[in-house]
Amino acid sequence: MENGNARDHKSCTSFRMPDIIRKKRDGHELTTDEINWFIDGVVNKHGACEDAQLGALLMAIYQNGMTPHETEILTSAMTKSGDILDWPDSWRGKLVDKHSTGGVGDKISLVLAPALAACGMKVPMISGRGLGHTGGTLDKLESIPGYNVLFKHQEIIQILEKVGCCIVGQSSNLVPADKKLYATRDVTSTVESLPLIAASIISKKAAESVDALVLDVKFGKAAFMKTECEGRKLAKALVNASEGQGVKTIALLTDMESPVGNTIGNALEVAEALQCLQGSGPDDLMELVCQLGGHLLALTHNALSEDDGVNDIHNSLCDGTALKCFEKMLVTQGVAADLAEKLCAKEMQDIDDVWKQLKRAKHSTDIKIPRTGFIESIDAYELAVVSQKLGAGRAKATDNIDHAVGIRLFVGQGSKVKEGETWIRVYHNEAALPIETVETIQKAVTVVDTEVLKSSRIIDVIKPDHAD
Ligand code: URA
Repeated sequence: MENGNARDHKSCTSFRMPDIIRKKRDGHELTTDEINWFIDGVVNKHGACEDAQLGALLMAIYQNGMTPHETEILTSAMTKSGDILDWPDSWRGKLVDKHSTGGVGDKISLVLAPALAACGMKVPMISGRGLGHTGGTLDKLESIPGYNVLFKHQEIIQILEKVGCCIVGQSSNLVPADKKLYATRDVTSTVESLPLIAASIISKKAAESVDALVLDVKFGKAAFMKTECEGRKLAKALVNASEGQGVKTIALLTDMESPVGNTIGNALEVAEALQCLQGSGPDDLMELVCQLGGHLLALTHNALSEDDGVNDIHNSLCDGTALKCFEKMLVTQGVAADLAEKLCAKEMQDIDDVWKQLKRAKHSTDIKIPRTGFIESIDAYELAVVSQKLGAGRAKATDNIDHAVGIRLFVGQGSKVKEGETWIRVYHNEAALPIETVETIQKAVTVVDTEVLKSSRIIDVIKPDHAD
């Protein structure tokens, strides 16, 4: 593992933060040396960037934006602020990862990492925890007793050698500049800045030293970006920033109005990921996994075309090889072998089968559809808020998670439904569901009289500017 701090500081002493802030405030482009010097200040290399100055510069960037070149330099400086992971040379061309901008019911990583490993890729997936209405991949996996997310770099190399994939947490010295910048953005209302978001996300992926990255950029009510136009702009900024770091990158622009798949909540999402790994997950989840993976295989020339890549991923889900990689990953990351074997056994056909192995919530309540017709939409945001309040998510970073609670849907967009049928099952540990929770759930579904066509979640594929 290299330390990216070995930067040459030849012109460092000639800068002052007030000058850099003024330059950005007045709408001018910062130079490479100025950006590098400022990031060195953020990680205390020369002590010349006070908190107030950092806040002021972030606001100037928020107000005036950054050129693609500035964004690329900022991303690169942040990447080099800490450790940069290195890998055996023989893995080059096969190191891949995926990033999602955050959704509801999004268990794609749990399926995609082992599917890619089954196709011969090396997938060092560094994931996060959930905050607010979106769930975190690590929280989902931690509903499996024994699953450990903390590993040293050498241990990660061993896991990848053995299994092909891992899903782990971030070490403390990966992109330390981002930790400081993100905390300051949070308290200065400067989070929603495209260049700052792009540099933050991509620096963490670039420090992983992967060859290729696929991005799932979500937009809609339950996403960070509310409109297609905002999603498109974020996707472009991310793809260009990532390509600027030498990582081949592609983004799928995907709809995040209704929940991904049929479950929300940690253990429930593991159960649904297992279904998908048995080749029988819900259509939208299967499509997202296959398309994201297929694009990565084609991008790294490990498949002749995107269609071939999609087929390879699909086959790995249907022939049990992806499931085998998942089982191996669980064991290598600390899960008892007999538990991993039972979770990955063929008998795990229904979502509720998971309770034979994982801790179940004390109660479940079925909620009935209010009228006959066709499901037009299901509001993922409202259901995510319900799920968070049940205990499946965090309101603040220090909150504990209840892995057993959540929501199972029996219908999706386009389903034909009859009044009085169960459309949703809520798993809860409180004795009774508050009436307001039931009302919120009922308001989340829209039933109409006329048939509704189910549409793909994938709206577009965004390539780097140089590929246009
Ligand atoms: N996720 C990140 O890691 N950084 C951002 O700025 C936004 C989302």
